Amino acid sequence: MAQSAALLTRILATSVSATVQAGKIIRDVLNKGGLNIVEKGKNDLQTEADRCAQRCIITSLSNQFPNITIIGEEEPSTCEVPSEWIITEADQEVLQVKLPSHLEDVNPKDVCVWVDPLDGTAEYTQGLVEHVTVLVGVAIGKRAIGGVIHQPYYKNDENSTYIENGRTLWGIDGVGFGGFVPKLPPEGKRIITTTRSHSDSIVQSAIKSLNPDEVARVGGAGHKIILLLEGKAHAYVFASRGCKRWDTCAPEAVLYAIGGVLTDLHGERYSYNRETTYANTRGVLATAPGQSHQWYLSRIPDEVKQKLQ
Ligand code: AMP
Ligand code: MG
Ligand code: MG
Repeated sequence: MAQSAALLTRILATSVSATVQAGKIIRDVLNKGGLNIVEKGKNDLQTEADRCAQRCIITSLSNQFPNITIIGEEEPSTCEVPSEWIITEADQEVLQVKLPSHLEDVNPKDVCVWVDPLDGTAEYTQGLVEHVTVLVGVAIGKRAIGGVIHQPYYKNDENSTYIENGRTLWGIDGVGFGGFVPKLPPEGKRIITTTRSHSDSIVQSAIKSLNPDEVARVGGAGHKIILLLEGKAHAYVFASRGCKRWDTCAPEAVLYAIGGVLTDLHGERYSYNRETTYANTRGVLATAPGQSHQWYLSRIPDEVKQKLQ
């Protein structure tokens, strides 16, 4: 790898390659069957694919970047990591990215990487494979700066077959993005995306307050942000404490890279430094570029906001 590239671009470029490998693992586990599902908590599943994909990503990153902090969703497991799962290459397009001077010389101590090896596990176990993403977010200090969203199962259009190796979307806030063509959502209507498997009456009342024309209930934080990136939804609204930092770090960075916004339901941004807590207890509101984030915030009822303190 070009050692001359900056730390941030090297981490992100390695993450792109690692998520592609994680995507292969996710497809392999499903093809072979034997998901070995473990229930971590209420409505919170883990499969062999979550465990193995996390080992692949974290081992690959920590071998190359021993001085940064890496936090993964899953507890360390004893799942075998064959040597071919360990990534030593890095994506060439990302390595070429030219950073502004304040991002060029980052102290590894200030870097915290958040890994969700398989976002949308509930949907994965139900065969809704297009909802699945692999998320690697790179924070510098408190901010989500770089993000990789890999989709192991992706079709160009509804009739085609899945493209080999899926697709990988990436972005660096204030710098650039790749792997997708951003599109604005349609004017004159409001499409809200939200959870399909973690809903309750508060989640519902937040959606209702926004008076949507359509509600897209899909799995995974990564997949919902992809809907915003591609103009298929105007906002992602989740009035619940259920999301964690590894769900939002990568999506937040990619969304900001194209001019979108992601905050809690009080309008504050989450912190992603290594000392922060994991749960996004104040909910999630993400809006596509061109939307008034403030309008969405102002419509969320106070009762909902009070439940998410
Ligand atoms: P969803 O929108 O339901 O697909 O959730 C997005 C992400 O947040 C996924 O990684 C979910 O596993 C996680 N999540 C949301 N709600 C909960 C919950 N109540 N318990 C555990 N994880 C949750
Ligand atoms: Mg997740
Ligand atoms: Mg996960």
